[in-house]
Amino acid sequence: MKSRKNSSDNSATNYRGRFAPSTTGPLHFGSLVSAMVSYLDARAAKGEWIVRIEDLDVPRLIKGADTWILNTLEAYGFEWHGPVVYQSQRIQHYSNALAQLSQQDLFYYCQCSRKQIARHARPGAFGYIYPGNCRNKQIDSPVKAASTRLKTDDLNICFTDRFYGNQQQNLLAETGDFIIRRADGLIAYQLAVVVDDADQGITHIVRGSDLIESTARQIYLQQCLHYPTPDYMHHPVVADRQMEKLSKQTGASALPTTGQCQILYRALTFLGQKPPDELKSVTVDAFWHWAIEHWNVNTMPTKMLVPQ
Ligand code: GLU
Repeated sequence: MKSRKNSSDNSATNYRGRFAPSTTGPLHFGSLVSAMVSYLDARAAKGEWIVRIEDLDVPRLIKGADTWILNTLEAYGFEWHGPVVYQSQRIQHYSNALAQLSQQDLFYYCQCSRKQIARHARPGAFGYIYPGNCRNKQIDSPVKAASTRLKTDDLNICFTDRFYGNQQQNLLAETGDFIIRRADGLIAYQLAVVVDDADQGITHIVRGSDLIESTARQIYLQQCLHYPTPDYMHHPVVADRQMEKLSKQTGASALPTTGQCQILYRALTFLGQKPPDELKSVTVDAFWHWAIEHWNVNTMPTKMLVPQ
């Protein structure tokens, strides 16, 4: 797969964005809209846009999904900067981050099963709030089936989302100590994404609103690891009439590799942009040229529903 963007564009600004699809299935209309928002936002700012394949969650991984995703992005005319990064090839970086957290005594091992947590913990807005059962148990090496939890503090994490405005979360009260390495030994999403965004110099994170609840945890991890905090913008996710996010589980089908312009056009109108009718039947290059030039984040709607 080729890396597409010519990096010698000397009008580039200090903007480095990314699209980070998980390899749980092919791209569908909802993921196209998500890729489009981050792409337009980066390109309109004359920034760089990179693609990172999130393939750590082995049990949910679909073989060949990475190639399928990259081929689809290419067929829809996305141009990314530099080589595609695979999380599965970055395990050493996550281990280094764990070592750094360990030096600061910021995590502990936890042997609570899901059942135990469900029995003892209070449900919060983002799942069960881990009550800290294992925090003082001194389990001092990662025993079999122990997860690794980051100690949270009683402090409010605040950030301003470019679309949703001011956000605040108290991790201790709202999530509790959270998992950074799972009991099956796999690195948890929260840790991997923070390490990667920092190593890749990401300055702007643009992604679906289903991930806004994770942002405070990620900012806290950035603070623990002494990383800078990027600018965040979450966008409404494309949902069906039952208000369920379009996904493989809700039956979203893979994007076709013909008739791209009509689909891109539809995605752009979902984003509240006002493309002229002719844009339905131009080349993908001409489509992107128009879309980048006219990108206006302020007209993005607060809901995006697909008709059924
Ligand atoms: N891999 C995640 C997904 O496909 C996105 C992660 C992120 O943007 O932080 O939903």
